[in-house]
Amino acid sequence: MERRFSCTACGKCCFGWLTLTLEDALAQAGRFPLAVIWTPVRQGSKSFSISARLGLTVRLRKRRQIAVRIAPTAYIPPSLPCPALAPDGLLCTIHGEKPSRCRTMPFFPYREEGDQADLLIPRTGWLCDTSAAAPVVYRDKKIVEREDFDREREELFRQASTLRSYGEWLLESAPSLKEELLRVAKKRTGGHVVVNFSTLLPHLPEVDVVAFARKQLPVMTEFAAKTAAVPALAEYHKLYLECAAEMEGVLERRPGAKG
Ligand code: SF4
Ligand code: SF4
Repeated sequence: MERRFSCTACGKCCFGWLTLTLEDALAQAGRFPLAVIWTPVRQGSKSFSISARLGLTVRLRKRRQIAVRIAPTAYIPPSLPCPALAPDGLLCTIHGEKPSRCRTMPFFPYREEGDQADLLIPRTGWLCDTSAAAPVVYRDKKIVEREDFDREREELFRQASTLRSYGEWLLESAPSLKEELLRVAKKRTGGHVVVNFSTLLPHLPEVDVVAFARKQLPVMTEFAAKTAAVPALAEYHKLYLECAAEMEGVLERRPGAKG
């Protein structure tokens, strides 16, 4: 089985959530409104094993468990473009430093390599070339040009222990999070739990929190303004306001940090 695919740089997939490696999230803190997305993955799902290795598992009753993917994410509504997308809607203005996720698209290293075929079917409105003129990118459940996929996955494995200890700590300190994860896991359509990125900062000792707050505050403020008058984006707006207030708090607590 072969699949063909070529990106025509139409920019149509540069909208909405963008999953990031931890390194990319921190590098782009002055551009993307960051959150941590927790995604429960049911036992028996094709992605259960890889999700457990990259994230954590939560024990349920009767010896069952769920895996949880914990992903730093540019938390952008599906209706809004990535802030790095040029006004023409085509050009990526940070092409040379764009996140691993954008380089690996449409492959997704949170899934097994043999479980990528459906990702090569363009979503409605996407102008990806899957014609006979496009190169073969996936053959017999193997990625042909695999450098970007391997690089992103290696990074995910490198960060896994940090995210796991963060996740275990947060589940322990916020029991409501576990309840919410279990509620989402039971839904037939699945779902996610969105958590403020600031909960992760104490687990990143190398991060200068004041410098991070200086970068995130204007981004959160801008996205709060963009979503203020859109009732459908109320959830996003609320998180942006909360995060902006937290970042302001960080800067207030550190004398001289606001300048
Ligand atoms: S960083 Fe560039 S390629 Fe990635 S979503 Fe944004 S505009 Fe698109
Ligand atoms: S939708 Fe397809 S063609 Fe358009 S930018 Fe994304 S990957 Fe490329």
